[in-house]
Amino acid sequence: MKISDFPKDIQPYLIPKHHAKLYYKCLNCAGEYDIKKLLYTCPDCGKILLIYDKNFKSLKKIPGELWQKIFDYRKMLKIPALKGIYLFHEFIGPIIPLDSVLYLGEGHTPIIKANDFLTQKAGVKFYYKNDGQNPSASFKDRGMASALSYINFLIKQNHVSDILAICASTGDTSAAAALYAAYMRPKVKSAVLLPHKKVTPQQLSQPLGSGAAVFEIPGVFDDCMKVVESLSENYNIALLNSKNAWRILGQESYSYEIAQEFDYDLKDIVVVVPIGNAGNITAIMNGFLKFYDTGIINTLPKIIGVQSSHANPVYKYYLEPDSKKRKFEPMVVKPSVAQAAMIGNPVSMPRVIHLVEKYNLKAGCNKVFFIEVSEQQIIDWELTANKNGHIACTHGGETLAGLITAKKQNLISDNETAVINSTAHALKFSGFQEMYFSNSFPKEFEISPDPRLINRPVYIHPENLSEVPKHGKPLTGEPFNKFIKKVSEEIADILKLKKI
Ligand SMILES: *Cc1c(COP(=O)(O)O)cnc(C)c1O
Ligand SMILES: [Zn+2]
Repeated sequence: MKISDFPKDIQPYLIPKHHAKLYYKCLNCAGEYDIKKLLYTCPDCGKILLIYDKNFKSLKKIPGELWQKIFDYRKMLKIPALKGIYLFHEFIGPIIPLDSVLYLGEGHTPIIKANDFLTQKAGVKFYYKNDGQNPSASFKDRGMASALSYINFLIKQNHVSDILAICASTGDTSAAAALYAAYMRPKVKSAVLLPHKKVTPQQLSQPLGSGAAVFEIPGVFDDCMKVVESLSENYNIALLNSKNAWRILGQESYSYEIAQEFDYDLKDIVVVVPIGNAGNITAIMNGFLKFYDTGIINTLPKIIGVQSSHANPVYKYYLEPDSKKRKFEPMVVKPSVAQAAMIGNPVSMPRVIHLVEKYNLKAGCNKVFFIEVSEQQIIDWELTANKNGHIACTHGGETLAGLITAKKQNLISDNETAVINSTAHALKFSGFQEMYFSNSFPKEFEISPDPRLINRPVYIHPENLSEVPKHGKPLTGEPFNKFIKKVSEEIADILKLKKI
């Protein structure tokens, strides 16, 4: 639809015009820093940053109901820069001109209602939000679209040139970073650091295919992160981990989309998310807070963060009810099928602590909760979800297991509806499904397959057949007819088909 065809009162707002004054703010010393620099940590105290807008107040001049209409109408525009996360431009990266925005098809991922059978099994109504349907097949694309659009903007302004973008990754960050950097070739080159043998073959193939320099390092993600931090302190590189606050801004789009999908009424909505480095839960809380502050939503939804018992430092931190007594302890992780969340020292922990307090305060009651689940529950629920029409990854299994655990603990009531995050596509983690089906999990995973969930291919090769088709040697005539007949009979027998 052309701009002139939209309602007159909406037309002036369709193309974003908000004059933002973004700046980095340190969560520790409250220092404020110029947004034109690539900063990851506070230059004064070294702690973590978030991005704020000095002109955020001016967004409140537009009533919440008008904002709702603006976003809903804007969805009908055919302008690529506004089709992805920047549909919510004023809230995501308002200093970035539309001609600097990178759009590779990220965001606006489907929200799929669970069928009756699965709803009954889970004991609670819920939807999957399929962030595996992003271009590199995980939610990380939301943050990369933001971080690389910002870098594109700096390049166009001649603030930076010849960028080498680097990240440490549990697999999906590197896939997303390499994809968006590849699109910006030759202005941006990328390198990724992965823990050797701790990412899936599919995840490894992604940055290789995008042409990034790929380095594998002994150890786990936390070790890779330390190397990348050391590189960013000593060399001129652009860091693309969620330490980079631009990543958080882009990932806030997840919350805005949920708000839009439920017509901005989040009264009975519970959002369930897996936690690894804690960038995603940070973004989700911050996103809902921004929409709440501008009256676009009137209720802050409940948020439940889920961790595997093999990598649960955030869960353990919140086990202590008295906030003054809480003490964060990094942990040594154990192998997890929710491998992309296998992180013992989450970089965004200070952001989580800051935002949980703010969120609960604004909501007037506790609205953020943390749940722990076992490896067995994670994979059993992933397989059960997918047997009922979903494409959940293991982390999607983790959120479903978390939802069910939360319901059992009465953190969720019967009139509530959950939106649970499948953060990546099932295919990225199909190796774990294969281990389950072939009962070959190393014992550290503490997973033993439930026979009812196992599914194996059946090789049909009738015995009393002298000839079968071979590569390059198809069968013809009588031997072929015999082969078709025997194979059909055997399949019909197994499936107990009735003759017509
Ligand atoms: C990165 C990742 C996570 C963890 O997200 P954080 O922001 O690090 O907490 C969960 N699931 C998948 C599939 C991921 O790629
Ligand atoms: Zn500081």
